[in-house]
Amino acid sequence: MVVGVKTGRECLDRGGASLGALASGDDRSSLETSMAAPIPLVDYLVLGDEPHLVANECTSCGARFFDRRNACAGCFATDFRKVDVDSSGEVRAFTIVAFAAPGIAVPFVSAIVDCGGTSVRANLLNVTPDPEHVTLGMKVRLTTSSMGVDEAGTEAIGFGYEPA
Ligand SMILES: [Zn+2]
Repeated sequence: MVVGVKTGRECLDRGGASLGALASGDDRSSLETSMAAPIPLVDYLVLGDEPHLVANECTSCGARFFDRRNACAGCFATDFRKVDVDSSGEVRAFTIVAFAAPGIAVPFVSAIVDCGGTSVRANLLNVTPDPEHVTLGMKVRLTTSSMGVDEAGTEAIGFGYEPA
């Protein structure tokens, strides 16, 4: 591959815009946006006015996965579609974590949240981390939080759930 043609690289990218069937849809988050724009910590978190999670759903059996799969773990089918996951849910299981690696504030609440049938593993935020304030079945909603800024000034955004 020939590199080193400094000028005109952008033109090439734009000129050769046809990437075939994969290039459908015009994603708002262009790679050419400012380096200071926040980026999601995980690629299944979509930021914007209404942050939400996106899952890969098996078109055969409906199983949902947040990571990319070559085949469904439920039925071995290989076709997936992107689906938005409900941003509100209920706490199905939780644990109050009292010990963690240095630098991680404890206690915090690690939970499994049922969002309209999709299980999401995440921390609970903006809640007192004790059994009085965290209960099974409690209603929660997605929220985002800053995970820090790197040397280039880019902020990473993570997500969790807070009491609804
Ligand atoms: Zn499946």
